Amino acid sequence: MKKISADIVYPITSSPIKNGVLILDDDGKILEISTREKFDEAELEIFQGALCPGFVNAHCHVELSHLKNKIAQHTGLVGFIQSLMGQRFAFSTEERLQAIADAEQEMIATGIVAVGDISNETISIEQKKKGNLFYHTFIETIGLQPLIAQKKFDEAMELSKQFVISNLSIAPHAPYSTSVSLIQLISDFNQKNNSPTTIHNQETEDEELFFKNKSGAFLDFYKNLGLDISYFNATKKTSLQSVIEAMPVHSNTLYVHNTFGYPSDLQAIAQHNKKSFLCACPQANLFIENKLPDYNLWSESGLKICIGTDSLASNSCLNIYEEIKTIQQKFNHLSLETLLKWATLNGAEFLGIEKTYGSFEIGKNPGVVLINNETSGSLI
Ligand SMILES: [Zn+2]
Repeated sequence: MKKISADIVYPITSSPIKNGVLILDDDGKILEISTREKFDEAELEIFQGALCPGFVNAHCHVELSHLKNKIAQHTGLVGFIQSLMGQRFAFSTEERLQAIADAEQEMIATGIVAVGDISNETISIEQKKKGNLFYHTFIETIGLQPLIAQKKFDEAMELSKQFVISNLSIAPHAPYSTSVSLIQLISDFNQKNNSPTTIHNQETEDEELFFKNKSGAFLDFYKNLGLDISYFNATKKTSLQSVIEAMPVHSNTLYVHNTFGYPSDLQAIAQHNKKSFLCACPQANLFIENKLPDYNLWSESGLKICIGTDSLASNSCLNIYEEIKTIQQKFNHLSLETLLKWATLNGAEFLGIEKTYGSFEIGKNPGVVLINNETSGSLI
């Protein structure tokens, strides 16, 4: 049994507790939440700083960890994708596996207990099978031409069979890379299984330009890939509003980035599905586009907000507390209590693991993170 205390404890589902105490069994399950005056201090492990539940990294691509420090910053999304495609397979399997193991170790050390992880290939399976972290894997599907929608969906199903791990679902990559027909197939499948899904949304201005008037950097990008997009007609709508009717209406859905979204886009997300979530990846947004979403608008939208690190291709670290600090630098009225809820309970609810993770409540086993001196570290 462990009895630990700190200057302040954030249970998340109830108010912060000054000089709070957590009593945990040997497996980390919470037995009691209390305050210091009820104990002889000699029987407590006392820490300076704050305690919060383990972080949920709602959006990561652990299979891209070998691209740390390999891609230039501030190129815009199209430049980033081109650089990523050029380098992704230019490393040995050993280098890639080591980078995945190192990335996982960094997540554990900084207090992450669960990850929503995007996979386009199988290279992360062995690490995930070790069970060091909870992973929900999203098999990411790409296919812009409507005629190949069924073929691409079948390929995703084949890939999912190779994973032989639990907690899997299928996800469309982004509106500019996945046809409405393919998104619909994926949504039907996930809704039938009541599985969460996710999509990259409005990460760049070029995404809007493509949908609104078939212009912007994606045109040259598709041309260089040899993709015929002559069938595509501008929708005159934002990218999000061009595809949202095909997104799930009653299963958990995470919209990632939303940097260039309008208030009407957030409203559309909220109206389309009560189980919609937004995911903030501020450090990746600064890395790629050098722009942050308006998190004030997000807060006012009523949607639940999660936090993700994205991958080491577009971030210097996989550390949720660093993401929180980056948000606070520009949005300093957002309290630590609010941001910790984004970083813990909301991500757990999106992944459907809130019975174990996301808050300090008796019977849960959410992990314990100590935050002090501007760093975070896992205690349990
Ligand atoms: Zn991503």
